[in-house]
Amino acid sequence: MSLIHNFNAFRTQEVLPKANFYKELKKGQAPETLFITCSDSRILPNLVTGTKEGELFVIRNAGNALPAYGEKTDLATSATIEYAVLVLGVKRIIVCGHAHCGAILARSDQSQVPQSCGYLHDYLNTMPQFKGKDIEENIKENIRHQVNNLLTYPYVKEAFEKNELNLRGWLYHFDEGNLEVMQEPNGDFSSWEAYL
Ligand SMILES: [Zn+2]
Repeated sequence: MSLIHNFNAFRTQEVLPKANFYKELKKGQAPETLFITCSDSRILPNLVTGTKEGELFVIRNAGNALPAYGEKTDLATSATIEYAVLVLGVKRIIVCGHAHCGAILARSDQSQVPQSCGYLHDYLNTMPQFKGKDIEENIKENIRHQVNNLLTYPYVKEAFEKNELNLRGWLYHFDEGNLEVMQEPNGDFSSWEAYL
């Protein structure tokens, strides 16, 4: 695989035929969605959501986690949330976890994580302490936890309560082409088909 060859093909087949669209992008961005998902290579946010350049503002890290307001554990993520909500004025935030998530597997059984991964242990310790070993339940619990962390940001809470900002949890099953949606914080997950 040559990434540069792929870039050349992208430029030739996509950018050059749509030169006006790409030139317009330099004027700025106004994405309506902040999409928070895992770093996992099997998740392609723009492909899955059918979005193009300018439509998704994205935060990615192992396990789609974010600190609660006031915690100084992950300034990059906190600052990016702040920018998305206060400057860009996004209309929705989606926390998208996924099936077979390595971060949740690791948090569920941290003894499997090599001791040499000091940062990873410190990071996993900031994630919820799961009660059981059911990975899918833990993935859902993590999504709920992260959506609740979003609500600790005063401007997120205010916009959410004014119905100016939607908060969604998604559980994406990349192996099945399935999506479970948590429509409201602390709500149940149900099939995407209910929201077509
Ligand atoms: Zn993951």
